[in-house]
Amino acid sequence: AKEQGRNTYQFYTEGMQDREVLRLELDRDLSQALANDEFVLYFQPQLNLDTGEINSVEALIRWQHPVRGLLPPVEFIPLAEESGRITEIGRWVVLAACRQLARWKGTPCEHLRVAVNLSGRELDDDSLIDHIRSTLASEAVDPSRLEVELTEEIFIQNIEHNLNQLSQLHQLGVHLAIDDFGVGYSSLGYLRDFPVDLLKIDRSFITDVTERHDDAVITRAVINLAHNLGIQVVAEGVETEEQLNFLKAHRCNLAQGYLISRPIPAADLERALAEGILI
Ligand code: C2E
Ligand code: CA
Ligand code: CA
Ligand code: CA
Repeated sequence: AKEQGRNTYQFYTEGMQDREVLRLELDRDLSQALANDEFVLYFQPQLNLDTGEINSVEALIRWQHPVRGLLPPVEFIPLAEESGRITEIGRWVVLAACRQLARWKGTPCEHLRVAVNLSGRELDDDSLIDHIRSTLASEAVDPSRLEVELTEEIFIQNIEHNLNQLSQLHQLGVHLAIDDFGVGYSSLGYLRDFPVDLLKIDRSFITDVTERHDDAVITRAVINLAHNLGIQVVAEGVETEEQLNFLKAHRCNLAQGYLISRPIPAADLERALAEGILI
């Protein structure tokens, strides 16, 4: 038994070391990724439940790693947040989204709004707003075509600073969505103070919304709360027709999830919209 215990222990530390090595390697590779143009945006359409149209997409970053292949954000965004590289990655995301919007002029994607994800850490950067403003201008993109998604963490720390940053964005005409709504901070007061345009109900409420009474009650309550405040609602992680019907019946504004489409490259999105195959 003693033997086995030691083996287990060794196995555990080796696993830890492997992970640490992988982390260090990825961190080193991350420093080259921007220069080597290895990041790419995928786009996931949002279905407008009032009109049946697709007017908006969420941009989700992927890393085309030269050895490890296409990496999802969970493999490198937390690492980039720790090292501070997230600031330059965020700038790249804003630039790539604006360039895409500029390229879409005159195509079936022309009317789309693009939502980009920013972490609280990125909002800490005082020059972020200037970067967004100047990128929109240099790419000649109407600010109302851009949306930023932030999680409730921005209402916990640096509140004054964040309110100031987001007020500037709002004045520009950029939309603000609160991501993963319902799983973070529990105070609702910030909905009064911040210029919020959309709430995105977290996937964890939608998954069982047609089976679990409490999830249905929460989802309906969030929709009503938001509407009474003049805020639109997006449901995340919609995977079934039943979920979609529930959301339509309760007047949710937008649905996003694998039922409509997985996140896809820009070229696939263009084809899908041109052929009208998403809806
Ligand atoms: P998120 O913003 O909550 O994005 C939604 C995630 O759910 C995406 O994962 C998307 O692919 C996935 N998803 C969409 N529909 C469904 C569905 O029907 N079922 C299921 N099971 N999943 C669905 P992804 O692309 O791996 O992104 C994960 C997270 O990484 C994002 O969560 C976001 O927090 C972060 N992220 C993505 N892109 C960026 C970025 O450019 N910058 C920053 N800072 N974070 C990003
Ligand atoms: Ca998001
Ligand atoms: Ca989300
Ligand atoms: Ca999330």
